[in-house]
Amino acid sequence: MHHDPTDRIESSVELSVVIPMFNEEEALPALVGRLRPVLDATGEAYEVVAVDDGSTDTTAEQLMDLRVTWPQLRVVRLRRNSGHQAALTAGLHRARGHYAASLDADLQDPPEKIPEMLALARSQHLDIVYGVRADRSTDTGFKRCTAGAYYWLMRRVVGTHVPAQAGDFRLLSRGALEALKALPDQPQVYRLLVPWLGFPSGEVTYHRNQRVAGHTKYPLRKMVLLAVDSIIGFSVAPLRLATWLGTLAFFVCLGVLMYTLTVYAAGDTAPGWTSLIIAVLFIGAVQLICLGLLGEYIGRIYTAVRQRPTYYVAHDTDTAHAPATAIA
Ligand code: UDP
Ligand code: MG
Repeated sequence: MHHDPTDRIESSVELSVVIPMFNEEEALPALVGRLRPVLDATGEAYEVVAVDDGSTDTTAEQLMDLRVTWPQLRVVRLRRNSGHQAALTAGLHRARGHYAASLDADLQDPPEKIPEMLALARSQHLDIVYGVRADRSTDTGFKRCTAGAYYWLMRRVVGTHVPAQAGDFRLLSRGALEALKALPDQPQVYRLLVPWLGFPSGEVTYHRNQRVAGHTKYPLRKMVLLAVDSIIGFSVAPLRLATWLGTLAFFVCLGVLMYTLTVYAAGDTAPGWTSLIIAVLFIGAVQLICLGLLGEYIGRIYTAVRQRPTYYVAHDTDTAHAPATAIA
């Protein structure tokens, strides 16, 4: 019978490192070259949960090959591309460690910081340790601007406790992880949900590097989606915008009415065509904005009610009999 190299791993894993990967064949060798020595040197019982998010390149094959010589590597393959946050969810749901770190595959976040995070969590009894970027000098000006705007907005929407410049590089204790898993939120925007849990937390600063190989899997479209999910997932303030815009429109109309009456009293008639069109378009715009906003919320309510899994696991090297699906 084929011998599974992961048989040897005890269920008492101390540290899980979860890495979502989507078409990362170019970055993978460099990642393994740096991550494995760091983890081996800690002397901890660890596992690496590599989540292949429906890659269409050789990522999955490479991972399976690596397992032959790296028994701590566990490969979870999703049936299709489900997105960074869903892949992260799949990995975190399957992590068995007392602590779980999440890391990007492209070495933008230094794996060397993981032991530091673990040491800090243990010595200070922290449940969450954020990797916080000391600077963004290696990001493009565009990425810096959009990220700046995002965190500025999120501090206002979620509250002041969202650590700025903290992405998805962090360490969670088992307690924090279970609390996170118990949340029914869909989609999961971890960088906001984790601070929201309110566990004792600390920070490790690091220098964020450039992607080691390959190209970004986060085009502008996905960045906008993340921002919309972030705001709507945490705030109903935009719904109130309808009230404000409606009130504004009401007063504008009132002003125009007064003007018209004044002009009429003076024995004249207000010129109609332009102001009429402006008024009609203005009200139309306000109504459409409000309808769109309602739609965004209703769409999310619909998604939540449907309770469809956010990912399907096609294959997990460590749990042959695990359920094939999980509600995220
Ligand atoms: N990723 C994923 N599924 C996706 C998109 C991205 O699993 O649909 C992974 C990707 O392989 C990487 C991490 O999420 O490990 C962050 O993606 P990326 O580095 O492309 O984003 P950026 O750093 O450019 O924001
Ligand atoms: Mg990256």
